[in-house]
Amino acid sequence: MSSAKTTITAPNGRQITINTGLFISNEWVAPVKGQEITSINPATEEAIVSVSAAGPEDVDKAVSAARAAFEGSWADVVGTERGRLLMKLADIVEAEMEPLATLVTMENGKPYSQATGDVEEMCGVFRYYAGWADKTYGQTIETGRQKFTYTLREPIGVCGQIIPWNYPLGMAGWKLGPCLACGNTTVLKPAEQTPLSILYFADLVVKAGFPPGVINILNGYGRETGSAIVDHPGIDKISFTGSTATGRQIMKSAAVNLKNITLETGGKSPIIIFDDADIKHAIKWTHYGIMGNMGQICTATSRIFIHERIYDDFMKLFLAYIEKISIVGDPFHEKTWHGPQVSKAQYERILSYAESARQEGARVLLGGKASSNKPNGKGYFIEPTVVGDVKSSMKVYKEEIFGPFAVVVKFSSEQEVIKAANDTEYGLAAALFTTDVTRAVRISQRLHAGNVWINSNNNSDFRVPFGGMKQSGIGRELGEAGLEAYSTLKAVHLNLVLANP
Ligand code: NAD
Repeated sequence: MSSAKTTITAPNGRQITINTGLFISNEWVAPVKGQEITSINPATEEAIVSVSAAGPEDVDKAVSAARAAFEGSWADVVGTERGRLLMKLADIVEAEMEPLATLVTMENGKPYSQATGDVEEMCGVFRYYAGWADKTYGQTIETGRQKFTYTLREPIGVCGQIIPWNYPLGMAGWKLGPCLACGNTTVLKPAEQTPLSILYFADLVVKAGFPPGVINILNGYGRETGSAIVDHPGIDKISFTGSTATGRQIMKSAAVNLKNITLETGGKSPIIIFDDADIKHAIKWTHYGIMGNMGQICTATSRIFIHERIYDDFMKLFLAYIEKISIVGDPFHEKTWHGPQVSKAQYERILSYAESARQEGARVLLGGKASSNKPNGKGYFIEPTVVGDVKSSMKVYKEEIFGPFAVVVKFSSEQEVIKAANDTEYGLAAALFTTDVTRAVRISQRLHAGNVWINSNNNSDFRVPFGGMKQSGIGRELGEAGLEAYSTLKAVHLNLVLANP
């Protein structure tokens, strides 16, 4: 049990002090029942530190604090001031880039050079939504001379925000930015694998001047803390990013008091390389789309479709490119591009897919095993993996693996590849490479995906709506659409005619 401060010595020599308690009403408190979770460094398999985990009683406290703020001090904070606070928070977070990125690398395993991107993403989203905070207007609507009618865009209330471990700070930024800009308050639960960087961030919330109760942060396990948030009748909205299975469960539980929900779930996204594409350019993006962040991206393009005329050339260059760029090793080493997977569970799960590919008769063209390049012989390192000779019935073709694991498929016609690309229960993203602009537009119209990239891949942008079709989610985050997810419309009808008695 702890609400104490702890100093962590990072592998890069940096000493970082965090508070390990629950962050409720701008204060650090110990959990009622004293539960803890332990953060493991996936590069060393060693425990970093144990932090408090919230139980239902703690969730109750956090929801009360968020409710009090929503109906109290925060309700009087106008949009311009909310924007100023978000802007200030972005500046403070940016100034703390080094400790924040260091903690992300320690808890998540991504190379330090990429962990800084996680911090930058958070700052970018805060600044973007700071600009929107005083521009969430309603409308006046013409309804005749006898009444004056208008709408107000109002906050939804107390939000429960549940995030995954793949971008511990970026995902927190995606959730917090629009939520606060619209005037809501929140109880945010990070993933149990990555509880540390967000604790450091919590102290910055106080420094920026947010009133108590606006942002509450509770670490804990999904089944306990997450469920208690989802089931809580005092929560008006749930925003979740994670697996489709959990999203489905959350949707069911949220029905209790008909909570507003936004779900961003899994994917098995296709990337299509046509025979007129610039091959070297396509290879760069194909690699990034599945090997970036060790393949732990919801929009990872894990099914690669290559036109038969360029298949042999593409594959030769693609495999060589992966071996050159995806340098596996210590995530604090500046040459490392590819760190460990986030956890033992994910590591074992990905390796089991390699086994399944072999058993089902596919051919492992690259990797398919633990990396021998483990610093100190430890860590959840996996070799970037590419599998060929796959059939659409195979597990590796159908299921989200969430690792550096691609399947490659040869195609001969547009019609065939559109059918194959859409042959999945998911619909989060798709990418295509061609120099024929007419074809690019034609294909993008027919792909069932919430995000389509043409001649690039996985370069989402917080100014643009993001979300999935089919079983990849409900609702949109980011961009102007992100405001709709965190606000509700009230229609006001003002009668201008006095009734004659
Ligand atoms: P998960 O869905 O179990 O966890 C995501 C978040 O939800 C975590 O904060 C977790 O604590 C919480 N959670 C889990 N069960 C919950 C419940 N019953 N009620 C409320 N909250 C709950 O995902 P995972 O176990 O971390 O990873 C498993 C798979 O999920 C991955 O292999 C991958 O396929 C997918 N995933 C997707 C994303 C994404 O960005 N779409 C991110 C991480 C994981």
